[in-house]
Amino acid sequence: MKTRQERIQALKKYPAPSVLIIGAGINGIGTFRDLALQGLDVVLVDRGDYCNGTSAASSHMVHGGIRYLENGEFSLVKEAVQERNQLIERLPHLVKPLPTTFPIFKRFSGLLNAPLKFVGLLDRPSERGALVIKLGMVFYDALTRKQKSVPPHVFRNRTDSLTRYPELNPEICYTATYFDGSMPSPERIAVELIKDAVEANENAIPINYVSLISADGGEVTLKDEVSGEEITLTPRVLVNAAGPWIDLVNQKMGRETPYISTTKGSHLILDNPLLKNAIGEEEFFFENKDGRIVLIFPLLDKVLIGTSDLWIDDPDDSVITEEEIDYFLEMIERVFPEIEVNRSQIIYTFSGVRPLQRSEGGATGQISRNHTVKVLPSGQLLDIPVLSLVGGKWTSFRAFSEHAADQVLQLLGKERKISTWNLLIGGSKDYPKNQAQRDRLVEDWSQKSGLDRTLVEGLFAWYGTKTSQVLARFADKLTPLKTLPGVTRGELEWILDGEDVLHLDDFILRRTTLAKLGKITPESLEEIAEICTSVLGWSEREKVAEVKRYQEIMLKKHRMHYGEYVSA
Ligand SMILES: Cc1cc2nc3c(=O)[nH]c(=O)nc-3n(C[C@H](O)[C@H](O)[C@H](O)COP(=O)(O)OP(=O)(O)OC[C@H]3O[C@@H](n4cnc5c(N)ncnc54)[C@H](O)[C@@H]3O)c2cc1C
Repeated sequence: MKTRQERIQALKKYPAPSVLIIGAGINGIGTFRDLALQGLDVVLVDRGDYCNGTSAASSHMVHGGIRYLENGEFSLVKEAVQERNQLIERLPHLVKPLPTTFPIFKRFSGLLNAPLKFVGLLDRPSERGALVIKLGMVFYDALTRKQKSVPPHVFRNRTDSLTRYPELNPEICYTATYFDGSMPSPERIAVELIKDAVEANENAIPINYVSLISADGGEVTLKDEVSGEEITLTPRVLVNAAGPWIDLVNQKMGRETPYISTTKGSHLILDNPLLKNAIGEEEFFFENKDGRIVLIFPLLDKVLIGTSDLWIDDPDDSVITEEEIDYFLEMIERVFPEIEVNRSQIIYTFSGVRPLQRSEGGATGQISRNHTVKVLPSGQLLDIPVLSLVGGKWTSFRAFSEHAADQVLQLLGKERKISTWNLLIGGSKDYPKNQAQRDRLVEDWSQKSGLDRTLVEGLFAWYGTKTSQVLARFADKLTPLKTLPGVTRGELEWILDGEDVLHLDDFILRRTTLAKLGKITPESLEEIAEICTSVLGWSEREKVAEVKRYQEIMLKKHRMHYGEYVSA
């Protein structure tokens, strides 16, 4: 990829791209990749780093949304299930099948949720009992039967459930397990999609830390957040993919739009080996008595807990509260009463805002998770068409992006050249077909590079077949960091060299899972900052400023000071 400076120069030299996309969350990135593959000159900008907004705050599930069946959203669930299956098959190093278990405390409760919702008499659903869950799972299986990417659901009685999960609350009547997918690092998927787009088309230009500040007529003014410089572009189509900020971006362009409702969802990550052991590699998904959902999710060797669904006005204000933490901890006690959970086990928290289709009041969980493209034709907002990408789920990004890209192509009078449906992503290309092939590949790399097999395994698990690139360029530097033996300098340099890392937090929060897994200490922060300084050419003053910026973000957005939770 060209350097950031070269890409900015390219924008100044050719300021009239066919398409300008505002917002590099998963929907902006998906649309960028799709249009790049169609051969279009397309520019993607974000006011911050790639995948820094809602797309970095998901529950890490690649799922069909079984509970939206109750809202009658069958086509949404069908599409999401199909996309989930494709991601499990087409992105094997970053998306894995996830057994998901419901502990069930009631037999018949919740039977009337769906019909009452249908006739508009239900605001807040009640807890679902065994019968409702069974019906939902039969239907969910039916949607996915043809693709066979995941096994069908299993229902267990109380005795079998307690044998399988001895720490579970003995008051349960049943458990039910179905399969979805898990993505331990959504941020890495985002970066791999961007790299694919740039590899396929040299006229596809992504630039992070560039924001839209205004627009008038056919001119859009961007600001480089690094240099402060303004850049004016005259695209033929503008795509507003600013997620929860969509209405704010349209406002900056001179028009109030009523597209988005915003609800906040928070998560915490616990270092609690007993809880991790109790759930194993399964997610536990369950409800409070008022129908609110809580999930306990295996995030590598830690446990992710989420999520809330609360109205919020300003997406920039989203941060976890003490009440949300109390609620999560109480809910875990309801399901695993013997396992102690407390604030001292928190190693990370995060909070994001759902960009939902506009809805007036009601229960937040009942608002549609569907996606739609709102088009303001030329003359209504700007002298070019403006498309706003409203709603959606991480899981369905490809379908939503395809829908958006088709509309752009139509406006430009172009034909689709390639479908993204079957495409492999990033390090999934040429992926071994079975375990034996995988073992041979790792063995081969290990012998050729002279590196320890476990180290190569670790790289393969994270970078897939792109491991060959890491080895080709940095094999002699794949030595563990002094303060973080699980990370090598070569890997760090590979990321710094080709993934647009501008700030220390880009690397620690989004190119790796180091912060999420609570691995950063003052010493490791210093060692990483030192390497960034030498590779990215920072001055000593810049290094100090970067360390301070990281600490401030951790405190303000994540309520963490290194591995310690800091209460509000
Ligand atoms: C708590 C929670 C849990 C979720 N869990 C799941 C899940 O498990 N599975 C699932 O499938 N989905 C999940 N979702 C939904 C999913 O995460 C979102 O639908 C999706 O990430 C939205 O992506 P986006 O690209 O539309 O928005 P965003 O990711 O928010 O991207 C918008 C981007 O626009 C940028 N931007 C804003 N203003 C400007 C400007 N002026 N100039 C330039 N850039 C700008 C922002 O910086 C941001 O990066 C969850 C959502 C939440 C909130």
